[in-house]
Amino acid sequence: MITQEEFFQNLSDLNSRIEDACEKSGRPRSSLTLLPVTKNWPSEVVKYCKNAGLKTVGENRVQEAIEKMSDVPNFDFELIGHLQSNKVNMATGNFARIQTVDSMKLLERIGAASEKKSKCQKILIQVNAGDDPAKFGITVDEAELLVERALEINSIQLNGLMTIAPFIEGDTKVASKCFAKLRVLKERLELKTGAELPELSMGMSGDLKEAIAEGATIVRVGSALFGKRDT
Ligand SMILES: *Cc1c(COP(=O)(O)O)cnc(C)c1O
Repeated sequence: MITQEEFFQNLSDLNSRIEDACEKSGRPRSSLTLLPVTKNWPSEVVKYCKNAGLKTVGENRVQEAIEKMSDVPNFDFELIGHLQSNKVNMATGNFARIQTVDSMKLLERIGAASEKKSKCQKILIQVNAGDDPAKFGITVDEAELLVERALEINSIQLNGLMTIAPFIEGDTKVASKCFAKLRVLKERLELKTGAELPELSMGMSGDLKEAIAEGATIVRVGSALFGKRDT
Protein backbone atom coordinates (compact mmCIF):
# COMPACT_ATOMS: atom_id res chain seq x y z
CA MET A 1 0.00 0.00 0.00
CA ILE A 2 1.20 3.52 -0.75
CA THR A 3 2.22 5.96 1.95
CA GLN A 4 0.38 9.21 2.59
CA GLU A 5 3.31 11.10 1.11
CA GLU A 6 3.14 9.08 -2.12
CA PHE A 7 -0.60 9.66 -2.22
CA PHE A 8 -0.14 13.43 -1.91
CA GLN A 9 2.32 13.27 -4.83
CA ASN A 10 -0.11 11.24 -6.96
CA LEU A 11 -2.90 13.64 -6.08
CA SER A 12 -0.81 16.61 -7.10
CA ASP A 13 0.12 14.92 -10.43
CA LEU A 14 -3.52 14.04 -11.04
CA ASN A 15 -4.65 17.58 -10.26
CA SER A 16 -2.20 18.87 -12.88
CA ARG A 17 -3.67 16.46 -15.44
CA ILE A 18 -7.17 17.58 -14.52
CA GLU A 19 -6.28 21.29 -14.68
CA ASP A 20 -4.67 20.71 -18.09
CA ALA A 21 -7.74 18.95 -19.42
CA CYS A 22 -10.04 21.67 -18.04
CA GLU A 23 -7.94 24.38 -19.65
CA LYS A 24 -7.93 22.60 -23.04
CA SER A 25 -11.71 22.29 -22.86
CA GLY A 26 -12.15 25.90 -21.78
CA ARG A 27 -13.75 24.89 -18.50
CA PRO A 28 -13.12 26.23 -15.01
CA ARG A 29 -11.55 23.67 -12.65
CA SER A 30 -14.39 24.40 -10.23
CA SER A 31 -16.89 22.81 -12.65
CA LEU A 32 -15.41 19.40 -11.90
CA THR A 33 -15.24 17.23 -8.77
CA LEU A 34 -12.65 14.54 -8.21
CA LEU A 35 -14.07 11.40 -6.62
CA PRO A 36 -11.21 9.20 -5.37
CA VAL A 37 -12.10 5.51 -5.65
CA THR A 38 -10.86 3.64 -2.58
CA LYS A 39 -12.35 0.22 -3.32
CA ASN A 40 -10.12 -2.73 -2.39
CA TRP A 41 -7.90 -0.47 -0.26
CA PRO A 42 -8.03 -0.27 3.54
CA SER A 43 -9.63 2.58 5.49
CA GLU A 44 -6.20 4.15 5.84
CA VAL A 45 -6.37 5.50 2.27
CA VAL A 46 -9.78 7.03 2.98
CA LYS A 47 -8.05 8.88 5.83
CA TYR A 48 -5.39 10.09 3.35
CA CYS A 49 -8.21 11.59 1.29
CA LYS A 50 -9.74 13.23 4.33
CA ASN A 51 -6.33 14.60 5.34
CA ALA A 52 -5.93 16.05 1.84
CA GLY A 53 -9.15 18.00 2.29
CA LEU A 54 -11.20 15.84 -0.07
CA LYS A 55 -14.85 15.45 0.90
CA THR A 56 -15.97 12.14 -0.59
CA VAL A 57 -14.73 8.77 -1.80
CA GLY A 58 -16.28 6.19 -4.10
CA GLU A 59 -16.68 2.54 -3.12
CA ASN A 60 -18.10 -0.32 -5.15
CA ARG A 61 -19.20 -2.75 -2.45
CA VAL A 62 -21.80 -1.95 0.19
CA GLN A 63 -20.43 -4.10 3.00
CA GLU A 64 -16.83 -2.96 2.50
CA ALA A 65 -17.91 0.68 2.45
CA ILE A 66 -20.04 0.41 5.59
CA GLU A 67 -17.03 -0.92 7.49
CA LYS A 68 -14.91 1.99 6.30
CA MET A 69 -17.65 4.45 7.27
CA SER A 70 -17.27 3.46 10.89
CA ASP A 71 -13.46 3.77 10.63
CA VAL A 72 -13.71 7.23 9.06
CA PRO A 73 -16.72 9.04 10.53
CA ASN A 74 -17.99 12.43 9.32
CA PHE A 75 -16.94 11.70 5.77
CA ASP A 76 -19.01 11.03 2.65
CA PHE A 77 -19.06 7.79 0.67
CA GLU A 78 -20.69 7.33 -2.72
CA LEU A 79 -21.67 3.96 -4.12
CA ILE A 80 -20.27 3.44 -7.63
CA GLY A 81 -20.64 -0.35 -7.87
CA HIS A 82 -23.68 -2.41 -8.81
CA LEU A 83 -26.31 -2.47 -6.06
CA GLN A 84 -28.11 -5.76 -5.43
CA SER A 85 -31.71 -5.60 -4.23
CA ASN A 86 -30.90 -7.37 -0.97
CA LYS A 87 -28.40 -4.60 -0.06
CA VAL A 88 -30.75 -1.69 -0.69
CA ASN A 89 -31.71 -1.29 2.95
CA MET A 90 -28.10 -1.27 4.07
CA ALA A 91 -27.06 1.20 1.37
CA THR A 92 -29.91 3.70 1.55
CA GLY A 93 -29.24 6.55 3.94
CA ASN A 94 -25.65 5.44 4.54
CA PHE A 95 -24.22 6.50 1.20
CA ALA A 96 -24.19 10.22 0.48
CA ARG A 97 -25.14 9.25 -3.06
CA ILE A 98 -25.87 6.07 -4.97
CA GLN A 99 -24.52 6.47 -8.51
CA THR A 100 -25.63 3.10 -9.88
CA VAL A 101 -29.42 3.12 -10.07
CA ASP A 102 -30.13 1.21 -13.28
CA SER A 103 -33.63 -0.30 -13.06
CA MET A 104 -37.16 0.68 -12.08
CA LYS A 105 -37.21 -2.04 -9.44
CA LEU A 106 -34.07 -0.73 -7.79
CA LEU A 107 -35.32 2.86 -7.95
CA GLU A 108 -38.62 1.94 -6.27
CA ARG A 109 -36.84 -0.05 -3.56
CA ILE A 110 -34.45 2.76 -2.76
CA GLY A 111 -37.38 5.19 -2.70
CA ALA A 112 -39.27 3.00 -0.24
CA ALA A 113 -36.22 2.41 1.99
CA SER A 114 -35.41 6.12 1.98
CA GLU A 115 -38.95 7.08 2.89
CA LYS A 116 -39.01 4.55 5.72
CA LYS A 117 -35.82 6.08 7.14
CA SER A 118 -37.20 9.61 6.60
CA LYS A 119 -34.25 10.42 4.35
CA CYS A 120 -33.83 11.95 0.94
CA GLN A 121 -31.42 9.72 -0.93
CA LYS A 122 -29.30 11.38 -3.60
CA ILE A 123 -28.85 9.24 -6.69
CA LEU A 124 -27.49 9.17 -10.21
CA ILE A 125 -28.93 6.95 -12.91
CA GLN A 126 -26.37 4.65 -14.48
CA VAL A 127 -26.67 4.50 -18.25
CA ASN A 128 -24.88 1.97 -20.43
CA ALA A 129 -24.16 4.71 -22.96
CA GLY A 130 -21.46 2.63 -24.64
CA ASP A 131 -23.82 -0.33 -25.23
CA ASP A 132 -21.21 -2.54 -23.61
CA PRO A 133 -22.65 -5.99 -22.85
CA ALA A 134 -20.11 -6.33 -20.02
CA LYS A 135 -21.44 -3.25 -18.20
CA PHE A 136 -24.42 -2.59 -15.98
CA GLY A 137 -26.67 0.38 -16.70
CA ILE A 138 -30.00 1.08 -18.29
CA THR A 139 -30.06 1.65 -22.06
CA VAL A 140 -30.20 5.18 -23.43
CA ASP A 141 -33.74 4.52 -24.69
CA GLU A 142 -35.00 3.32 -21.30
CA ALA A 143 -33.41 6.18 -19.35
CA GLU A 144 -36.27 8.63 -19.87
CA LEU A 145 -38.87 6.55 -18.02
CA LEU A 146 -36.50 6.01 -15.13
CA VAL A 147 -35.62 9.71 -14.90
CA GLU A 148 -39.27 10.73 -14.99
CA ARG A 149 -40.13 8.28 -12.22
CA ALA A 150 -37.14 9.32 -10.09
CA LEU A 151 -38.30 12.95 -10.28
CA GLU A 152 -41.68 11.94 -8.84
CA ILE A 153 -40.36 10.20 -5.74
CA ASN A 154 -40.09 12.62 -2.82
CA SER A 155 -37.61 10.56 -0.85
CA ILE A 156 -35.19 10.59 -3.79
CA GLN A 157 -33.15 13.45 -5.17
CA LEU A 158 -31.94 12.78 -8.70
CA ASN A 159 -28.67 14.63 -9.39
CA GLY A 160 -27.83 13.38 -12.87
CA LEU A 161 -26.36 10.52 -14.86
CA MET A 162 -23.39 8.18 -14.63
CA THR A 163 -21.67 5.92 -17.14
CA ILE A 164 -18.66 3.64 -17.45
CA ALA A 165 -17.13 3.74 -20.93
CA PRO A 166 -16.06 0.57 -22.71
CA PHE A 167 -12.31 0.11 -22.34
CA ILE A 168 -10.37 -0.43 -25.53
CA GLU A 169 -6.59 -0.39 -25.16
CA GLY A 170 -5.05 2.44 -27.17
CA ASP A 171 -8.38 3.73 -28.47
CA THR A 172 -10.10 6.58 -26.68
CA LYS A 173 -12.57 7.41 -29.48
CA VAL A 174 -15.07 4.82 -28.25
CA ALA A 175 -14.94 6.35 -24.76
CA SER A 176 -15.37 9.88 -26.15
CA LYS A 177 -18.42 8.78 -28.10
CA CYS A 178 -19.92 7.15 -25.02
CA PHE A 179 -19.38 10.31 -22.93
CA ALA A 180 -20.85 12.54 -25.65
CA LYS A 181 -23.89 10.29 -25.79
CA LEU A 182 -24.44 10.68 -22.05
CA ARG A 183 -24.15 14.46 -22.27
CA VAL A 184 -26.62 14.65 -25.17
CA LEU A 185 -29.02 12.40 -23.25
CA LYS A 186 -28.77 14.62 -20.17
CA GLU A 187 -29.48 17.75 -22.24
CA ARG A 188 -32.45 16.09 -23.94
CA LEU A 189 -33.91 14.86 -20.64
CA GLU A 190 -33.50 18.30 -19.05
CA LEU A 191 -35.51 19.82 -21.90
CA LYS A 192 -38.11 17.08 -21.76
CA THR A 193 -38.65 17.10 -17.98
CA GLY A 194 -37.82 20.72 -17.15
CA ALA A 195 -35.68 19.41 -14.29
CA GLU A 196 -31.99 20.13 -13.81
CA LEU A 197 -29.67 17.13 -13.96
CA PRO A 198 -26.42 18.85 -13.05
CA GLU A 199 -24.09 15.89 -12.59
CA LEU A 200 -22.39 13.79 -15.26
CA SER A 201 -20.25 11.16 -13.54
CA MET A 202 -17.94 9.86 -16.24
CA GLY A 203 -14.23 9.25 -16.73
CA MET A 204 -11.71 7.19 -14.77
CA SER A 205 -7.88 7.07 -14.60
CA GLY A 206 -7.54 6.03 -18.25
CA ASP A 207 -10.08 8.28 -19.93
CA LEU A 208 -10.55 11.35 -17.76
CA LYS A 209 -9.24 13.75 -20.40
CA GLU A 210 -11.91 12.60 -22.85
CA ALA A 211 -14.59 12.75 -20.17
CA ILE A 212 -13.66 16.30 -19.19
CA ALA A 213 -13.75 17.35 -22.85
CA GLU A 214 -17.29 15.96 -23.09
CA GLY A 215 -18.56 17.72 -19.98
CA ALA A 216 -17.96 15.40 -17.00
CA THR A 217 -18.70 17.04 -13.64
CA ILE A 218 -17.44 14.08 -11.58
CA VAL A 219 -14.41 11.95 -12.48
CA ARG A 220 -13.93 8.70 -10.54
CA VAL A 221 -10.25 7.94 -10.12
CA GLY A 222 -8.69 4.89 -8.47
CA SER A 223 -5.44 3.53 -9.87
CA ALA A 224 -3.93 6.93 -10.78
CA LEU A 225 -4.15 7.83 -7.08
CA PHE A 226 -3.56 4.59 -5.23
CA GLY A 227 -1.79 2.35 -7.73
CA LYS A 228 -3.00 -0.87 -9.27
CA ARG A 229 -4.14 -3.76 -7.18
CA ASP A 230 -5.22 -7.13 -8.48
CA THR A 231 -8.00 -8.38 -6.27
C1 LIG B 1 -12.85 1.08 -10.05
C2 LIG B 1 -13.74 2.08 -10.63
C3 LIG B 1 -13.28 3.34 -11.03
C4 LIG B 1 -11.83 3.76 -10.93
O1 LIG B 1 -11.10 3.14 -11.95
P1 LIG B 1 -9.56 3.45 -12.19
O2 LIG B 1 -9.33 2.99 -13.58
O3 LIG B 1 -8.81 2.67 -11.18
O4 LIG B 1 -9.38 4.91 -12.05
C5 LIG B 1 -14.20 4.24 -11.53
N1 LIG B 1 -15.51 3.92 -11.66
C6 LIG B 1 -15.99 2.73 -11.30
C7 LIG B 1 -17.45 2.43 -11.45
C8 LIG B 1 -15.13 1.75 -10.78
O5 LIG B 1 -15.62 0.55 -10.42
